[in-house]
Amino acid sequence: ATPISIMVASGRGAQQGLLFKDAAAIEAMRDIDTLVMDKTGTLTEGRPSLTSVVPLGSYTRSQLLAFAASLERSSEHPLAKAIMTAAQEEHVHLLDAADIHILAGGGVSGHVSQNNIAFGNERLMATLGVALDPDTLAKADVLRGEGATVMTLAVDGKPVGLFAVSDRIKSDTLSAIVDLKASGLHIVMLTGDNAITASSVARALAIDEVHADVSPAGKAEVIGALRKQGRRVAMAGDGINDAPALAVADIGIAMGQGTDVAMESAQLTLVKGRLSGILHARSLSQATVRNIR
Ligand code: ADP
Ligand code: MG
Repeated sequence: ATPISIMVASGRGAQQGLLFKDAAAIEAMRDIDTLVMDKTGTLTEGRPSLTSVVPLGSYTRSQLLAFAASLERSSEHPLAKAIMTAAQEEHVHLLDAADIHILAGGGVSGHVSQNNIAFGNERLMATLGVALDPDTLAKADVLRGEGATVMTLAVDGKPVGLFAVSDRIKSDTLSAIVDLKASGLHIVMLTGDNAITASSVARALAIDEVHADVSPAGKAEVIGALRKQGRRVAMAGDGINDAPALAVADIGIAMGQGTDVAMESAQLTLVKGRLSGILHARSLSQATVRNIR
């Protein structure tokens, strides 16, 4: 690539809200054949809201929300924001929390008023040795059938409530995927969310391949495996949990409204957070590389 054509391309890209890190990024974009995307915050708005709280014991909705929000105050995850918003709207009184531990792609745990509290997915519950009985699992699956993400609240090792949170698909996601698929890309969803929720969203979006229940390290492994199969992989994501995967892809693409960590790990940032930016970035890199050969 000549320096001039690369400069022109990065200038044009910047006007359209496409920030390439360097010349290599512009060239890498041309050759990709597989596009892997995170779900929450990439395909969806990333502004989920709390749709229901299902008590499993004697705690009231407001008590359950107080426990969850007291932990989530320390997290920047979009799911945490959904809990904080609900707690505020319902005037829930927050409690002091200590020994907070955040498990990326899992949830949060810590001490809240002398209790051991954990809030997150089934991977977090398994890690902490919280057993979920068949009845609880069945209730969670009912909520997931609608595309909701379900989190369990555990107090002192026992599940006491289920929280369902729903996140709208971005208005331009489907049309962008239709265009990206038509351009020949194989489309993959990679999410830390569970399989039922993931496939309900994937079905609505005509996504070719789904990997659910994947930890942040696992996301990087899936990208590595795709590359070993000879695929040239672009990975788009927004969260801290996506950073390892963004770093190992042929090109990592960060959503502009996402976390700083994602943008630092990526070679292309879509300032507007719109997936159609990937299509524009690809045309731009194809035109640039064609010009200089
Ligand atoms: P995605 O890959 O869809 O962006 P993440 O990897 O960030 O999702 O999270 C995967 C799952 O881990 C979430 O669906 C949720 O169940 C759980 N989780 C992650 N962070 C939190 C949190 N702060 N509070 C509660 N649950 C969380
Ligand atoms: Mg995400």
